[in-house]
Amino acid sequence: MKYDRILIRYGEISTKGRNRHKFVEKLRRSVVNALTSFPSIKVEASRDRMYVILNGEDGKEIIEKLKGIFGIQSFSPAIKVERDVENIKQATLELISSIYRVGQTFKVTPKRSDKTFELDTDGINRVIGTHLLKNIPGLKVNVKEPDINVRIEVRQEAVYLSCETIQGAGGLPVKSAGKAMLMLSGGIDSPVAGYLSMKRGLELEAVHFFSPPYTSERSKEKVIDLTKKLAEIYGSLTLHIVPFTEIQQVIKEQVPENYTMTTMRRMMLRITDEIRKQREGLAIITGESLGQVASQTLESMFAINEVTNTPILRPLISMDKTDIIKIAQEIDTLEISNRPFEDCCTIFVPASPKTKPRREKVHRYESFVDFEELIKEAVQKIETLNITTDDAHDLHSEFNALF
Ligand code: ATP
Ligand code: MG
Repeated sequence: MKYDRILIRYGEISTKGRNRHKFVEKLRRSVVNALTSFPSIKVEASRDRMYVILNGEDGKEIIEKLKGIFGIQSFSPAIKVERDVENIKQATLELISSIYRVGQTFKVTPKRSDKTFELDTDGINRVIGTHLLKNIPGLKVNVKEPDINVRIEVRQEAVYLSCETIQGAGGLPVKSAGKAMLMLSGGIDSPVAGYLSMKRGLELEAVHFFSPPYTSERSKEKVIDLTKKLAEIYGSLTLHIVPFTEIQQVIKEQVPENYTMTTMRRMMLRITDEIRKQREGLAIITGESLGQVASQTLESMFAINEVTNTPILRPLISMDKTDIIKIAQEIDTLEISNRPFEDCCTIFVPASPKTKPRREKVHRYESFVDFEELIKEAVQKIETLNITTDDAHDLHSEFNALF
């Protein structure tokens, strides 16, 4: 007996009340997109589950693809059988016989969504359990920790058999939670922050500050490659490259050295917020982690964050560097981030930036320069790229190893 479908269980989306339909539709689209290389499959979605009907396609390969899709809690290869006790007995026996290895234990877990079925759960348990025990020599029952858990689900239209549950990636379906701008440097942290946000359903656009000739084309390439990695989740990702040299030079000339970093961050945030407005986003995401460097102390954040009311999401705020690196490794961005090209911040960052900058002081230092004008100019000169990936979704399955 061969599995003819894969049953997909939703995670948290099933708690989303009236929005549920929208969420299910987003998830269905993710599944369809991830499985374009299997032309014969069919995807059936209903409000509480989804089926990928295999129609002869390779279930194992499809399972690998499904493992990376956000919004899936778990899934099981399954067989659909007619609602007839003899049929169920026979199909269950064939299924278990095909996977059973001598000495293994089992239990039956019936679920009766349709109460009109002739057997109740105890009845299914007894009839199927007895049939299996009688026909598979050596098979034993173990209700606590069975090797094989035979799930029999009776629904109105049919009965579904499965005995393996595979963990899904969790999270929420892609692009189901609104749009945000990801401040993407060439470092280790921000791509991880981007990944975690995408996992939670956010729709991202990336913003990168670039300071030629102080930063080279190769550091730009590095950011493009990072964007490409993240793009594998959507198929493509928009990247805004902001020319930042002039502003940085003005800051260096006009602001006392120990405050240059604070002002530089404030300018980055103001520009990102401008882009956010134009792109109709609702939040800004950074890779900041509390106390990691001078700009990430709470005092610094207090001084920097002042320039906007827009929610700033910091998915890594409480994470240690070692944990962040682990995720970067899993999602395959670490190697790119580790390429040794200079970032605009590292070049202009002073030897001893203020770890406890004060707002009043920043205001005074910034008051001598018309930053508004410089920001406008920078925004006008933004280069917007649509980064696509050739093999969308392949990364998806790599990602899943972690979650
Ligand atoms: P990362 O590893 O993400 O670069 P980091 O630990 O090096 O982070 P910072 O350099 O202080 O920390 O940057 C903090 C955050 O500010 C980054 O995570 C990123 O979101 C944003 N950021 C820094 N530099 C840039 C840049 N050149 N372009 C866009 N965003 C940036
Ligand atoms: Mg950095």
